[in-house]
Amino acid sequence: MELSTEKTIDWIERWVEYIKQNVTTLNELDTAIGDGDHGTNLNRGTQAVKKALAEEKPQTLPLVYRTTAMALVSTIGGASGALFGTAFLTMARLSKDGETKLETLLLEANEAMKKRGKSDVGMKTLIDLWDPATKAFRDHKLTRSYIQNCVDKTKNMKASKGRSSYLRERSIGHIDPVAKSSSYLFIALLEVLEEDK
Ligand code: ADP
Ligand code: MG
Repeated sequence: MELSTEKTIDWIERWVEYIKQNVTTLNELDTAIGDGDHGTNLNRGTQAVKKALAEEKPQTLPLVYRTTAMALVSTIGGASGALFGTAFLTMARLSKDGETKLETLLLEANEAMKKRGKSDVGMKTLIDLWDPATKAFRDHKLTRSYIQNCVDKTKNMKASKGRSSYLRERSIGHIDPVAKSSSYLFIALLEVLEEDK
């Protein structure tokens, strides 16, 4: 399916709002297995996205994705900034090359993040949300409960990437913060698509 430039902005802005409403939740999740800054960091980044979209008024899909990526990477330190930046930059590059299918853009963004982080499913990272969610979206099977399930599944995983991996077994029993913040992106997407019906 294709998402217009306008709808894409709507989608991203809804994600920005979800992050703003859930800063504390995300910080708490990151406190359990990281350094407690994920909500604050991502809120800073997504507020910068909102500002950049309002100021730059990108008129094409690649520009919307590029503006989003640049705002995120320039304001978020840490692993999640680089990874979300990679995702949106990949979508910018592919859409500039003429790819318009959102399924393909998201699948390729996921693959690019795996490469960037040398990570794959089961390592208790955002990939445990992105990988199943992008595939379910491709197969027209993405739902809120499926998304929630993916988030919940990270709870019993042992982290093997990033800061949380230092905790080894002690990382078990906590949801991955970036799987959670990524889940809002896919929930926001479902909302935008439902509005069209
Ligand atoms: P930092 O640990 O630098 O503060 P953040 O709090 O921004 O990073 O993000 C931590 C999250 O980043 C982890 O919970 C995990 O989901 C993700 N992450 C870290 N390293 C990797 C990696 N190599 N590949 C994929 N995801 C990763
Ligand atoms: Mg952190």
